[in-house]
Amino acid sequence: MDTIFTKIDKGEIPSTKVYEDDICFVILDINPVKKGHCLVISKQPYPNMGSCPDDVLNHLILVAKKIEKKQREVLGNQGSNIIINNDPASGQEVPHIHVHVIPRFEGDGRKHFQDHDKYADGEMKAFGDRLRLS
Ligand code: AMP
Repeated sequence: MDTIFTKIDKGEIPSTKVYEDDICFVILDINPVKKGHCLVISKQPYPNMGSCPDDVLNHLILVAKKIEKKQREVLGNQGSNIIINNDPASGQEVPHIHVHVIPRFEGDGRKHFQDHDKYADGEMKAFGDRLRLS
């Protein structure tokens, strides 16, 4: 099934591409959190992390690492957010797996996760017990 990213990959929609190989490509996000915000996009339109094969997911993360290094060299950012929005409940808008690589600068005023939950007494341990991998 076509997504906006498969259309970009086929050249049907213009983009600013900064990397490409057999498995993925990297473009600048059209609506950047900070200028230089990149998207590392699988060529196959796996809709989410669970459906993406391990070797492809590994590859996306390794390419994100290279892009992040390049951003630091060129843009001088001191940090970054590396994010996969995973399914619509998380805010994922394009159902085609991609890794956001967002350059971040000391005091840049951007906050990615705005609101936070607070654990009640004992609740953190209960969540830990439920989520621990065996
Ligand atoms: P997500 O919410 O994780 O699915 O992120 C989708 C991202 O794709 C958003 O940050 C959009 O700004 C970005 N985006 C959507 N259309 C385009 C486009 N034509 N070119 C570049 N980035 C895009």
